[in-house]
Amino acid sequence: MSDWRKQDLEAGGALARRAFLALEKETADPPGVTRKGYGKGEKFAFDLMIGEAQALGVEHRYDAGGNLFLTYPGEDRSRVIQIGSHIDTVPHGGNYDGAAGVIAGVAAMAVFHAAGKKPPFDLCVVITRAEESCWFPYSYIGSRMALGILDPDLLDSLTRSDTGRTLADHMASDGFDPDGVKRGESLIDKAKVVAHIEPHIEQAPVLIDADVPIGVVTGIRGSFRYRTGKCEGAYSHSGAMPRKYRQDAMAATAELIVRMDALWEEMLAADRDVTITFGEVATNAEQHGFSKVAGETHICLDVRSQDQSALDHVQAQYLAIAEEIGKRRNVKFDFGEISGSTPALMSENLIGLMKSAAEEADIPYKVMASGAGHDAAIFALQGVPTVMIFIRNQNGSHNPFEAMEMEDFDKAVEILANMLARPAEDWL
Ligand SMILES: [Zn+2]
Repeated sequence: MSDWRKQDLEAGGALARRAFLALEKETADPPGVTRKGYGKGEKFAFDLMIGEAQALGVEHRYDAGGNLFLTYPGEDRSRVIQIGSHIDTVPHGGNYDGAAGVIAGVAAMAVFHAAGKKPPFDLCVVITRAEESCWFPYSYIGSRMALGILDPDLLDSLTRSDTGRTLADHMASDGFDPDGVKRGESLIDKAKVVAHIEPHIEQAPVLIDADVPIGVVTGIRGSFRYRTGKCEGAYSHSGAMPRKYRQDAMAATAELIVRMDALWEEMLAADRDVTITFGEVATNAEQHGFSKVAGETHICLDVRSQDQSALDHVQAQYLAIAEEIGKRRNVKFDFGEISGSTPALMSENLIGLMKSAAEEADIPYKVMASGAGHDAAIFALQGVPTVMIFIRNQNGSHNPFEAMEMEDFDKAVEILANMLARPAEDWL
Protein backbone atom coordinates (compact mmCIF):
# COMPACT_ATOMS: atom_id res chain seq x y z
CA MET A 1 0.00 0.00 0.00
CA SER A 2 1.23 3.48 -0.72
CA ASP A 3 1.05 5.85 2.18
CA TRP A 4 1.00 9.29 0.66
CA ARG A 5 -0.75 11.87 2.77
CA LYS A 6 -3.49 13.87 1.09
CA GLN A 7 -1.30 16.99 1.20
CA ASP A 8 1.59 15.20 -0.55
CA LEU A 9 -0.59 14.38 -3.54
CA GLU A 10 -2.11 17.84 -3.43
CA ALA A 11 1.35 19.41 -3.72
CA GLY A 12 1.72 17.63 -7.09
CA GLY A 13 -1.77 18.66 -8.14
CA ALA A 14 -1.18 22.32 -7.28
CA LEU A 15 2.08 22.44 -9.21
CA ALA A 16 0.40 20.88 -12.23
CA ARG A 17 -2.57 23.25 -12.24
CA ARG A 18 -0.23 26.24 -11.99
CA ALA A 19 1.98 24.96 -14.81
CA PHE A 20 -0.86 24.09 -17.22
CA LEU A 21 -2.43 27.49 -16.64
CA ALA A 22 0.82 29.40 -17.22
CA LEU A 23 1.46 27.42 -20.42
CA GLU A 24 -2.05 28.01 -21.69
CA LYS A 25 -1.79 31.74 -21.05
CA GLU A 26 1.75 32.40 -22.24
CA THR A 27 1.75 30.19 -25.34
CA ALA A 28 -1.81 31.02 -26.45
CA ASP A 29 -2.25 31.33 -30.22
CA PRO A 30 -6.02 31.27 -30.72
CA PRO A 31 -7.51 28.85 -31.35
CA GLY A 32 -5.30 26.76 -29.03
CA VAL A 33 -1.61 27.08 -28.25
CA THR A 34 1.54 27.04 -30.40
CA ARG A 35 4.93 25.97 -29.05
CA LYS A 36 7.37 25.61 -31.92
CA GLY A 37 10.42 23.35 -31.63
CA TYR A 38 13.27 25.78 -30.78
CA GLY A 39 10.70 28.58 -30.62
CA LYS A 40 9.56 31.12 -28.04
CA GLY A 41 6.74 28.98 -26.62
CA GLU A 42 8.97 25.95 -26.15
CA LYS A 43 11.57 28.13 -24.42
CA PHE A 44 8.91 29.57 -22.12
CA ALA A 45 7.83 26.03 -21.21
CA PHE A 46 11.41 24.92 -20.48
CA ASP A 47 12.01 27.97 -18.26
CA LEU A 48 8.72 27.38 -16.47
CA MET A 49 9.70 23.80 -15.66
CA ILE A 50 13.13 24.91 -14.42
CA GLY A 51 11.42 27.40 -12.09
CA GLU A 52 9.04 24.78 -10.69
CA ALA A 53 11.83 22.25 -10.30
CA GLN A 54 14.16 24.70 -8.53
CA ALA A 55 11.51 25.25 -5.87
CA LEU A 56 11.82 21.49 -5.17
CA GLY A 57 15.60 21.67 -4.90
CA VAL A 58 16.03 19.93 -8.24
CA GLU A 59 19.20 20.30 -10.34
CA HIS A 60 18.88 21.14 -14.02
CA ARG A 61 21.18 20.55 -16.98
CA TYR A 62 20.87 20.95 -20.74
CA ASP A 63 22.52 18.57 -23.16
CA ALA A 64 24.32 19.78 -26.29
CA GLY A 65 21.11 20.05 -28.30
CA GLY A 66 19.03 21.69 -25.57
CA ASN A 67 17.10 18.77 -24.08
CA LEU A 68 16.51 19.51 -20.41
CA PHE A 69 17.33 17.11 -17.55
CA LEU A 70 15.79 17.82 -14.11
CA THR A 71 17.23 15.52 -11.46
CA TYR A 72 15.65 14.80 -8.07
CA PRO A 73 18.14 12.90 -5.93
CA GLY A 74 17.28 9.34 -4.95
CA GLU A 75 18.67 6.89 -2.34
CA ASP A 76 21.08 5.30 -4.82
CA ARG A 77 22.58 8.03 -6.97
CA SER A 78 24.38 5.68 -9.34
CA ARG A 79 21.22 4.85 -11.28
CA VAL A 80 18.30 6.78 -12.65
CA ILE A 81 14.60 6.45 -13.44
CA GLN A 82 13.67 8.79 -16.29
CA ILE A 83 10.27 10.33 -16.88
CA GLY A 84 10.09 12.12 -20.19
CA SER A 85 8.08 13.70 -22.92
CA HIS A 86 8.16 16.75 -25.18
CA ILE A 87 6.67 20.17 -24.64
CA ASP A 88 6.38 21.55 -28.18
CA THR A 89 3.01 21.46 -29.98
CA VAL A 90 1.68 21.51 -33.51
CA PRO A 91 0.45 24.96 -34.70
CA HIS A 92 -2.80 25.80 -32.86
CA GLY A 93 -2.55 22.57 -30.93
CA GLY A 94 -3.84 21.64 -27.49
CA ASN A 95 -2.15 22.33 -24.17
CA TYR A 96 -1.73 18.69 -23.09
CA ASP A 97 -0.05 16.68 -25.88
CA GLY A 98 3.52 16.46 -24.57
CA ALA A 99 3.22 18.89 -21.68
CA ALA A 100 1.09 16.48 -19.62
CA GLY A 101 3.96 13.98 -19.56
CA VAL A 102 6.53 16.55 -18.51
CA ILE A 103 4.31 18.10 -15.85
CA ALA A 104 3.34 14.67 -14.49
CA GLY A 105 7.03 13.94 -13.93
CA VAL A 106 7.70 17.19 -12.09
CA ALA A 107 4.42 16.80 -10.14
CA ALA A 108 5.59 13.34 -8.99
CA MET A 109 8.79 15.00 -7.73
CA ALA A 110 6.61 17.50 -5.83
CA VAL A 111 4.80 14.59 -4.13
CA PHE A 112 8.12 13.12 -2.94
CA HIS A 113 9.31 16.58 -1.88
CA ALA A 114 6.17 17.28 0.14
CA ALA A 115 6.45 13.89 1.83
CA GLY A 116 10.18 14.34 2.49
CA LYS A 117 10.84 11.01 0.76
CA LYS A 118 13.42 9.80 -1.71
CA PRO A 119 12.81 7.46 -4.63
CA PRO A 120 15.11 4.40 -4.75
CA PHE A 121 17.19 5.92 -7.56
CA ASP A 122 17.64 9.43 -8.96
CA LEU A 123 14.50 10.61 -10.67
CA CYS A 124 15.17 12.54 -13.87
CA VAL A 125 12.55 14.37 -15.89
CA VAL A 126 13.85 14.47 -19.46
CA ILE A 127 12.18 17.18 -21.56
CA THR A 128 12.89 16.60 -25.22
CA ARG A 129 13.06 19.20 -27.97
CA ALA A 130 11.13 19.34 -31.23
CA GLU A 131 9.13 16.11 -31.10
CA GLU A 132 6.42 17.31 -33.46
CA SER A 133 7.67 16.72 -37.00
CA CYS A 134 5.71 19.70 -38.35
CA TRP A 135 8.58 22.05 -37.35
CA PHE A 136 11.52 20.07 -38.65
CA PRO A 137 10.36 17.27 -40.96
CA TYR A 138 11.84 14.39 -38.97
CA SER A 139 10.53 12.29 -36.09
CA TYR A 140 11.81 12.36 -32.49
CA ILE A 141 14.73 14.75 -32.97
CA GLY A 142 15.00 15.46 -29.23
CA SER A 143 15.00 11.87 -28.00
CA ARG A 144 17.47 10.78 -30.67
CA MET A 145 19.73 13.69 -29.65
CA ALA A 146 19.33 12.79 -25.98
CA LEU A 147 20.68 9.32 -26.75
CA GLY A 148 23.43 10.68 -29.02
CA ILE A 149 22.04 8.91 -32.10
CA LEU A 150 20.70 11.74 -34.26
CA ASP A 151 22.18 11.46 -37.76
CA PRO A 152 24.73 14.36 -37.84
CA ASP A 153 23.86 15.27 -41.44
CA LEU A 154 20.35 16.24 -40.36
CA LEU A 155 21.61 19.24 -38.37
CA ASP A 156 22.41 21.13 -41.57
CA SER A 157 19.78 19.60 -43.85
CA LEU A 158 16.58 19.93 -41.79
CA THR A 159 15.03 23.37 -41.94
CA ARG A 160 12.20 24.71 -39.82
CA SER A 161 8.95 24.95 -41.75
CA ASP A 162 8.28 28.59 -40.86
CA THR A 163 11.77 30.16 -40.86
CA GLY A 164 13.63 28.06 -43.44
CA ARG A 165 16.64 28.14 -41.05
CA THR A 166 18.51 24.92 -40.32
CA LEU A 167 18.22 22.89 -37.14
CA ALA A 168 21.89 23.69 -36.36
CA ASP A 169 21.25 27.39 -36.82
CA HIS A 170 18.22 27.40 -34.50
CA MET A 171 20.13 25.39 -31.94
CA ALA A 172 23.17 27.68 -32.02
CA SER A 173 21.13 30.87 -31.81
CA ASP A 174 19.39 29.50 -28.70
CA GLY A 175 22.82 29.01 -27.11
CA PHE A 176 23.23 25.27 -27.68
CA ASP A 177 25.99 23.31 -29.38
CA PRO A 178 25.13 21.67 -32.73
CA ASP A 179 28.71 20.42 -33.10
CA GLY A 180 28.31 18.52 -29.82
CA VAL A 181 25.12 16.94 -31.18
CA LYS A 182 26.98 15.97 -34.37
CA ARG A 183 29.66 14.31 -32.23
CA GLY A 184 26.91 12.31 -30.50
CA GLU A 185 27.44 13.90 -27.06
CA SER A 186 24.83 12.66 -24.59
CA LEU A 187 24.07 13.07 -20.90
CA ILE A 188 22.44 9.64 -20.80
CA ASP A 189 24.42 6.59 -19.79
CA LYS A 190 22.05 3.82 -20.88
CA ALA A 191 23.68 1.32 -18.50
CA LYS A 192 22.52 3.48 -15.58
CA VAL A 193 18.93 3.99 -16.75
CA VAL A 194 16.69 1.62 -14.82
CA ALA A 195 13.51 2.78 -16.57
CA HIS A 196 12.13 5.36 -18.95
CA ILE A 197 8.48 6.27 -18.34
CA GLU A 198 6.48 8.47 -20.71
CA PRO A 199 3.09 9.73 -19.52
CA HIS A 200 0.95 11.08 -22.39
CA ILE A 201 -2.66 11.95 -23.11
CA GLU A 202 -4.45 9.32 -25.13
CA GLN A 203 -4.98 10.53 -28.69
CA ALA A 204 -8.03 8.40 -29.49
CA PRO A 205 -11.34 7.73 -27.69
CA VAL A 206 -10.45 4.21 -26.43
CA LEU A 207 -10.31 5.19 -22.73
CA ILE A 208 -13.45 7.29 -23.03
CA ASP A 209 -15.28 4.35 -24.60
CA ALA A 210 -13.98 2.01 -21.91
CA ASP A 211 -14.88 4.56 -19.22
CA VAL A 212 -11.50 4.31 -17.47
CA PRO A 213 -9.10 7.19 -16.74
CA ILE A 214 -5.77 5.44 -17.35
CA GLY A 215 -4.15 3.31 -20.02
CA VAL A 216 -1.14 1.08 -19.34
CA VAL A 217 0.65 0.84 -22.68
CA THR A 218 2.07 -2.48 -23.82
CA GLY A 219 3.72 -1.31 -27.01
CA ILE A 220 4.00 1.45 -29.58
CA ARG A 221 2.84 0.33 -32.96
CA GLY A 222 5.26 0.10 -35.80
CA SER A 223 4.08 0.31 -39.37
CA PHE A 224 4.57 -0.42 -43.01
CA ARG A 225 3.31 1.80 -45.79
CA TYR A 226 2.98 1.63 -49.53
CA ARG A 227 2.46 5.29 -50.38
CA THR A 228 2.76 5.16 -54.17
CA GLY A 229 0.83 2.05 -55.13
CA LYS A 230 -1.05 1.78 -58.40
CA CYS A 231 -3.25 -0.60 -60.30
CA GLU A 232 -3.03 -0.67 -64.09
CA GLY A 233 -5.83 -1.99 -66.27
CA ALA A 234 -7.20 -0.52 -69.49
CA TYR A 235 -9.65 2.28 -70.23
CA SER A 236 -12.66 1.22 -72.26
CA HIS A 237 -16.29 2.07 -73.08
CA SER A 238 -18.62 1.47 -70.12
CA GLY A 239 -21.49 0.33 -72.29
CA ALA A 240 -19.71 -1.48 -75.10
CA MET A 241 -17.03 -3.47 -73.28
CA PRO A 242 -18.32 -6.86 -72.06
CA ARG A 243 -17.36 -7.89 -68.53
CA LYS A 244 -15.06 -10.71 -69.58
CA TYR A 245 -12.82 -8.40 -71.63
CA ARG A 246 -12.60 -5.66 -69.05
CA GLN A 247 -9.41 -4.68 -67.28
CA ASP A 248 -11.19 -2.64 -64.61
CA ALA A 249 -8.63 -1.12 -62.23
CA MET A 250 -11.33 0.37 -59.99
CA ALA A 251 -13.21 -2.88 -59.44
CA ALA A 252 -9.93 -4.68 -58.76
CA THR A 253 -8.84 -2.02 -56.28
CA ALA A 254 -12.22 -2.09 -54.54
CA GLU A 255 -12.04 -5.87 -54.21
CA LEU A 256 -8.53 -5.63 -52.78
CA ILE A 257 -9.70 -3.12 -50.16
CA VAL A 258 -12.71 -5.21 -49.15
CA ARG A 259 -10.60 -8.34 -48.83
CA MET A 260 -7.99 -6.53 -46.72
CA ASP A 261 -10.79 -5.22 -44.52
CA ALA A 262 -12.03 -8.80 -44.06
CA LEU A 263 -8.47 -9.88 -43.20
CA TRP A 264 -8.39 -7.15 -40.53
CA GLU A 265 -11.64 -8.40 -38.98
CA GLU A 266 -10.32 -11.94 -39.01
CA MET A 267 -7.10 -10.86 -37.24
CA LEU A 268 -9.01 -8.84 -34.64
CA ALA A 269 -11.19 -11.86 -33.94
CA ALA A 270 -7.95 -13.77 -33.29
CA ASP A 271 -6.88 -10.99 -30.87
CA ARG A 272 -4.04 -9.72 -33.03
CA ASP A 273 -3.14 -6.04 -32.73
CA VAL A 274 -3.35 -4.37 -36.15
CA THR A 275 -4.86 -1.45 -38.08
CA ILE A 276 -5.28 -1.44 -41.86
CA THR A 277 -6.04 1.85 -43.60
CA PHE A 278 -6.46 2.87 -47.23
CA GLY A 279 -6.28 6.64 -46.76
CA GLU A 280 -5.82 7.62 -50.39
CA VAL A 281 -7.48 5.90 -53.31
CA ALA A 282 -8.13 7.66 -56.60
CA THR A 283 -8.74 7.25 -60.29
CA ASN A 284 -6.71 9.47 -62.60
CA ALA A 285 -8.64 12.75 -62.83
CA GLU A 286 -7.12 13.57 -66.20
CA GLN A 287 -8.37 10.42 -67.84
CA HIS A 288 -11.30 9.07 -65.87
CA GLY A 289 -14.93 9.62 -66.86
CA PHE A 290 -18.31 8.41 -65.73
CA SER A 291 -18.77 6.39 -68.90
CA LYS A 292 -15.30 4.86 -68.97
CA VAL A 293 -14.03 1.71 -67.32
CA ALA A 294 -11.19 2.99 -65.11
CA GLY A 295 -7.84 1.98 -66.54
CA GLU A 296 -5.77 3.10 -63.59
CA THR A 297 -5.94 3.77 -59.85
CA HIS A 298 -3.63 5.23 -57.23
CA ILE A 299 -3.76 3.37 -53.92
CA CYS A 300 -2.06 3.95 -50.52
CA LEU A 301 -1.87 1.43 -47.70
CA ASP A 302 -0.91 2.14 -44.07
CA VAL A 303 -0.69 -0.82 -41.66
CA ARG A 304 0.26 -0.59 -38.00
CA SER A 305 0.81 -3.09 -35.23
CA GLN A 306 2.86 -3.51 -32.07
CA ASP A 307 3.62 -7.02 -33.31
CA GLN A 308 6.15 -7.42 -36.12
CA SER A 309 4.75 -10.83 -37.10
CA ALA A 310 1.31 -9.28 -37.63
CA LEU A 311 2.89 -6.65 -39.91
CA ASP A 312 4.68 -9.37 -41.85
CA HIS A 313 1.50 -11.41 -42.15
CA VAL A 314 -0.54 -8.49 -43.50
CA GLN A 315 2.18 -7.57 -45.98
CA ALA A 316 2.41 -11.11 -47.33
CA GLN A 317 -1.38 -11.36 -47.60
CA TYR A 318 -1.57 -7.99 -49.38
CA LEU A 319 0.84 -9.11 -52.08
CA ALA A 320 -0.79 -12.53 -52.44
CA ILE A 321 -4.36 -11.21 -52.65
CA ALA A 322 -3.31 -8.52 -55.15
CA GLU A 323 -1.60 -11.14 -57.28
CA GLU A 324 -4.69 -13.35 -57.29
CA ILE A 325 -7.07 -10.47 -58.10
CA GLY A 326 -4.67 -9.15 -60.76
CA LYS A 327 -4.65 -12.49 -62.62
CA ARG A 328 -8.40 -12.98 -62.44
CA ARG A 329 -9.29 -9.42 -63.42
CA ASN A 330 -6.44 -8.94 -65.91
CA VAL A 331 -4.91 -5.91 -64.19
CA LYS A 332 -1.49 -5.32 -62.65
CA PHE A 333 -0.85 -4.01 -59.14
CA ASP A 334 2.45 -2.27 -58.47
CA PHE A 335 2.79 -0.96 -54.92
CA GLY A 336 6.10 0.88 -55.29
CA GLU A 337 8.45 1.41 -52.38
CA ILE A 338 7.70 0.23 -48.89
CA SER A 339 8.53 2.33 -45.83
CA GLY A 340 7.75 1.96 -42.16
CA SER A 341 8.93 1.74 -38.59
CA THR A 342 9.71 -0.98 -36.07
CA PRO A 343 7.21 -1.72 -33.27
CA ALA A 344 8.53 -0.91 -29.79
CA LEU A 345 7.48 -3.23 -27.00
CA MET A 346 7.24 -1.86 -23.49
CA SER A 347 9.01 -3.61 -20.58
CA GLU A 348 6.98 -6.44 -19.01
CA ASN A 349 8.44 -5.65 -15.60
CA LEU A 350 7.51 -1.97 -15.81
CA ILE A 351 4.02 -2.82 -17.09
CA GLY A 352 3.63 -5.01 -14.00
CA LEU A 353 4.88 -2.27 -11.66
CA MET A 354 2.53 0.24 -13.24
CA LYS A 355 -0.49 -2.05 -12.96
CA SER A 356 0.15 -2.80 -9.30
CA ALA A 357 0.74 0.92 -8.61
CA ALA A 358 -2.74 1.60 -10.08
CA GLU A 359 -4.30 -1.25 -8.11
CA GLU A 360 -2.77 0.07 -4.86
CA ALA A 361 -4.65 3.31 -5.45
CA ASP A 362 -7.84 1.59 -6.65
CA ILE A 363 -7.58 3.33 -10.02
CA PRO A 364 -9.11 1.41 -12.93
CA TYR A 365 -6.96 1.11 -16.04
CA LYS A 366 -7.02 -0.45 -19.48
CA VAL A 367 -4.10 -2.35 -20.99
CA MET A 368 -3.64 -1.10 -24.55
CA ALA A 369 -1.29 -0.42 -27.45
CA SER A 370 -0.31 3.06 -28.57
CA GLY A 371 -1.33 3.72 -32.14
CA ALA A 372 0.60 6.97 -32.39
CA GLY A 373 4.39 7.21 -32.21
CA HIS A 374 6.16 8.67 -29.17
CA ASP A 375 9.67 9.53 -27.94
CA ALA A 376 9.33 6.43 -25.72
CA ALA A 377 9.69 4.23 -28.83
CA ILE A 378 13.20 5.60 -29.41
CA PHE A 379 14.26 4.74 -25.85
CA ALA A 380 12.68 1.27 -26.05
CA LEU A 381 14.34 0.49 -29.39
CA GLN A 382 17.69 1.53 -27.87
CA GLY A 383 17.26 -1.16 -25.22
CA VAL A 384 16.16 1.07 -22.33
CA PRO A 385 13.34 -0.60 -20.30
CA THR A 386 10.41 1.65 -21.16
CA VAL A 387 6.72 2.02 -20.37
CA MET A 388 3.98 4.57 -21.12
CA ILE A 389 0.95 5.63 -19.14
CA PHE A 390 -1.98 7.15 -21.04
CA ILE A 391 -4.38 9.69 -19.57
CA ARG A 392 -7.97 9.82 -20.81
CA ASN A 393 -8.57 12.81 -23.06
CA GLN A 394 -11.54 14.10 -25.05
CA ASN A 395 -11.39 15.15 -28.70
CA GLY A 396 -8.10 13.56 -29.75
CA SER A 397 -4.91 15.60 -30.03
CA HIS A 398 -3.08 17.93 -32.43
CA ASN A 399 -6.07 20.27 -32.20
CA PRO A 400 -7.17 23.06 -29.81
CA PHE A 401 -9.94 20.90 -28.32
CA GLU A 402 -7.86 18.42 -26.29
CA ALA A 403 -9.74 18.18 -22.99
CA MET A 404 -8.01 16.15 -20.30
CA GLU A 405 -9.74 16.26 -16.91
CA MET A 406 -7.40 17.30 -14.09
CA GLU A 407 -8.88 14.54 -11.89
CA ASP A 408 -7.66 12.00 -14.44
CA PHE A 409 -4.24 13.68 -14.54
CA ASP A 410 -4.07 13.50 -10.70
CA LYS A 411 -4.67 9.75 -10.93
CA ALA A 412 -1.74 9.37 -13.32
CA VAL A 413 0.51 11.28 -10.91
CA GLU A 414 -0.65 9.10 -8.01
CA ILE A 415 0.16 5.96 -10.01
CA LEU A 416 3.60 7.37 -10.89
CA ALA A 417 4.28 8.29 -7.25
CA ASN A 418 3.24 4.80 -6.09
CA MET A 419 5.41 3.22 -8.73
CA LEU A 420 8.43 5.41 -7.93
CA ALA A 421 8.13 4.54 -4.24
CA ARG A 422 8.74 0.85 -4.97
CA PRO A 423 12.04 -0.47 -3.58
CA ALA A 424 15.16 -0.82 -5.73
CA GLU A 425 14.89 -4.59 -6.13
CA ASP A 426 11.53 -4.27 -7.89
CA TRP A 427 13.17 -2.30 -10.70
CA LEU A 428 16.22 -4.39 -11.41
ZN1 LIG B 1 2.99 13.98 -28.02
